Amino acid sequence: MPDRRAVFFDRDGTLMEEEDHCDHPSRVRAIPGAGAALAALHQAGWSSVIITNQSGIGRGYFTTADYEAVNTELFRQLGGSLPAYHCPDHPESATPRRKPGTGMIEEAIRDHRIDPARSWFVGDKAVDIACGRAAGCRTILVRTGYGAKTSESEANYAANDVVAAIAIILEKE
Ligand SMILES: [Mg+2]
Repeated sequence: MPDRRAVFFDRDGTLMEEEDHCDHPSRVRAIPGAGAALAALHQAGWSSVIITNQSGIGRGYFTTADYEAVNTELFRQLGGSLPAYHCPDHPESATPRRKPGTGMIEEAIRDHRIDPARSWFVGDKAVDIACGRAAGCRTILVRTGYGAKTSESEANYAANDVVAAIAIILEKE
């Protein structure tokens, strides 16, 4: 029985500052306070998982190894690592794994025995909200990254940043 509750996080513009196609650890800046907020979330019994489109790989801007080096630096700044699913597809040849498709979430649900109905998706773009909704999760739009200029009425909540989003989740549960 899948029973674990989780928070799915977009990476760029959500857990770290938006950098157009971030291709190098030197460009990584975690959102201030995100590491402590994630630690509090885990302390409260939540799993957390990164779900990220990385079309820069499909476009030939950077490699899978570059993507992983960025993750390693992000995890260092956050003070801990998270399971991460990425989709390298070019938008013009996208598979159902690419958000707003739910392929990556479905993999995470299987791999980690997550119940989507008890879970949340936090992201800075309309595609994140659409993906989370399609998977049956509650959703929070963060006002960092592209979220600063997104008018997204489909999300259950909006929050100034990922720290505020985690506070909403901990308050609602
Ligand atoms: Mg994003």
